[in-house]
Amino acid sequence: MAREVQGTFELEPAATAETWTGPTAEVAVAVPILHHLTYAVPAELLDTVEPGIRVRVPIGGRQVTGFVIAITPEATVEGKLRPLTAVLEDRPCVVPATLRLGLWVARYYGAAPGESLQAVVPAAVRHGRRLKEDVLVEIVDVAAARAALDEHLEQASWQGRCRVLRALLDGIEGGNDDPQDGGQRLRELQRRAKVSVSPIDTLQRGGLVRRRRVPALEDPFAKLRPKQQSPPTLTADQATALKALIPLLGAQTFAATLLHGVTGSGKTEVYLQLLERTLAAERSAILLVPEIALTPQTVERILGRIPEVAVLHSNLSDGDRATQWRRLRSGEVRVAVGPRSAVFAPLANVGLIVLDEEHETTFKQQSSPRYHARDVALHRGRIEGALVVLGTATPSLETEGMVRRDEILRVSLPTRVGGRPMPKVSVIDMRHEKPVGPGGIFSRVLVNSIDETLGSGGQVMLFLNRRGFSTMILCRVCGWRASCSQCAIQLTHYRGGDRLLCHYCGEERHAPRECPDCKSPSIRYGGFGTERVQASISALFPEKRVDRMDGETLARRGAPERLYRDLFDGKIDILVGTQALAKGLDIPNVTLVGVVSADTALLIPDFRSSERTFQLLCQVAGRAGRGDVPGRVIIQSYCPDHESIQAARHHDHHAFVERELAHREALSYPPSANLARVVAESSDAEIAAKTAMDVATKARSWPETLAGKVTVVGPAPCPIPQLKGQHRFHLLLVAPDVDSITELLDRIPRRSGRRLRVLVDRDPVALM
Ligand code: ADP
Ligand code: ZN
Ligand code: ZN
Repeated sequence: MAREVQGTFELEPAATAETWTGPTAEVAVAVPILHHLTYAVPAELLDTVEPGIRVRVPIGGRQVTGFVIAITPEATVEGKLRPLTAVLEDRPCVVPATLRLGLWVARYYGAAPGESLQAVVPAAVRHGRRLKEDVLVEIVDVAAARAALDEHLEQASWQGRCRVLRALLDGIEGGNDDPQDGGQRLRELQRRAKVSVSPIDTLQRGGLVRRRRVPALEDPFAKLRPKQQSPPTLTADQATALKALIPLLGAQTFAATLLHGVTGSGKTEVYLQLLERTLAAERSAILLVPEIALTPQTVERILGRIPEVAVLHSNLSDGDRATQWRRLRSGEVRVAVGPRSAVFAPLANVGLIVLDEEHETTFKQQSSPRYHARDVALHRGRIEGALVVLGTATPSLETEGMVRRDEILRVSLPTRVGGRPMPKVSVIDMRHEKPVGPGGIFSRVLVNSIDETLGSGGQVMLFLNRRGFSTMILCRVCGWRASCSQCAIQLTHYRGGDRLLCHYCGEERHAPRECPDCKSPSIRYGGFGTERVQASISALFPEKRVDRMDGETLARRGAPERLYRDLFDGKIDILVGTQALAKGLDIPNVTLVGVVSADTALLIPDFRSSERTFQLLCQVAGRAGRGDVPGRVIIQSYCPDHESIQAARHHDHHAFVERELAHREALSYPPSANLARVVAESSDAEIAAKTAMDVATKARSWPETLAGKVTVVGPAPCPIPQLKGQHRFHLLLVAPDVDSITELLDRIPRRSGRRLRVLVDRDPVALM
């Protein structure tokens, strides 16, 4: 009995009995339908149907899977009702708490319940795939692959295939031309190259790549055998914090806390002690970390103290993921560590949920359901009666808002472990500097400090949140700029490979020798990214070992572990990198951090750019001086007086937050208001614009809007008006309270067709 169908699915009239008397099941089907559907439960299935279980049901002329969310044992339904077709598992793979959580996510984020429940259960677990094997895709002949890439690079129909070849070639590290080294698992390759399987199939038919079945890759963390560590003597701050937190954990009711500790204050030790106590109380726990922080270092630290852990990271093979899931589901292990999706871990009786680096925007999922793990964690805490701990040195403004509304208790670690001082931060005004070295990147002060630091045996990190070599390619004669044909984005030049790349869709081109418009050979390669920083610093310090950690280098197999090892063992003198540097690295010998430009995030026209800048600067500065030698930080900027930079310089979180909260309030941005963003996307700009206008007009006629409870802002073109060939318009719903937004999301007509997509992003982390 379909009540309301959204999107592109249409139901045919149902057909079984005239009137059904007997048990019925409410089913959330895995298609974009915002409401669940009712089915008759045939007598032979009655014993096996329970809430949470996955079933197969008819919808229209198709069979789809869905989750049973409720059962009515004795129902009388007038009219025709179709029966469930099959029950797909012996025992539900969701636990009661996560079933409730999934349904809450659907309602709160305006997603289809079936889709939200899909997010709760990983595909590997749902499909029950063959566990011991992976499909590996590899290049047949490296030279042929390079030639094909070169030949077809700028051919529109080859875009997907080129990205696949590039991803495979990138996996083969310098000089070594063994294609087997570059083999990648099918799913990972698809993710990396942003493609469906079809270009891979086409390449295979053309003889350029082949598939091979291989034993499932081993979980890189499965081999870690850390020595058991005993807890250190707590610092006074840690002891005070635990004194506040332990009673809340013991109360076994919901409590939300912010563990606000400066970088190097020993937050992890507080988490570990709480985890140990949770297990001792026979309860289970979840530790959420940003994906990028899920390094061997972090995992080793946890496993050294708590062996009973399932690590759910995104590089797990399907088989390992399913295994970890079962270990959690059966209660064999009671601690789940993982990125945002681990918030749905199938644990019973959760007593503690920790979100480390809670300010990280990677906790927000960017596809439906667009949930934020922080808010889901808080809700799960409510359902389970658990203690939720949000840990960070730089709390998000949302969390600060909740602290101020007394919804979250702040517990502070104001000083570093061992009485170590915070690093001394200097800001260099680049407007008055005559840069040294090639590329005009470094101030004299920074180069001198690097020299001094290396001279005294220290290591250096250089941070720049921009990849590539040149970031602006333009014609000096006519002003032509190299931008993506599918996105309103400038292309980045990579010198290795001499190519231009779009960071959004992966489109690639040969670096031009002449202007495509006016044929002038004067092409300017301006702006710089990490690749050029590396080249430039290597030229200044030719005898030093310089390495790079960014999206490009980290994609190489084994690179994260190798870079971390080499850094720790002192085999790298200078490490250049993007925000990958800022996350959790604890290297005692790094005594100087240079921020090559603090301005990259400030240039982004988004209401969070000040917050992002402040957080990044504090986090990256926090890598310096974690050992016995005090740390130094040098920040280069063209707007040195900006409040984010000044606050980071003085480690003054409080001042930053006070000022930023006032701005947000004045402009009705979170946390002063609740936002939902509606985006209309179409390959036809007019259709996108008109759709956004229609939604806005409709929203302006809602009683809530007329009564002033909700404000509609827009529509307007998105700041990035075109992405992957789709033209984009958006509008914002702004409301002072949470509930009115929840009500309204249901009323927005969704589209998920190829011509037109209308999506809703509640509590967006960016408005780009
Ligand atoms: P944060 O996450 O707050 O930046 P970490 O948890 O990484 O800080 O801790 C910083 C360093 O201090 C780590 O090397 C950690 O092992 C060490 N540490 C933490 N607590 C103590 C303690 N009580 N005594 C000695 N060393 C500690
Ligand atoms: Zn030109
Ligand atoms: Zn693009």
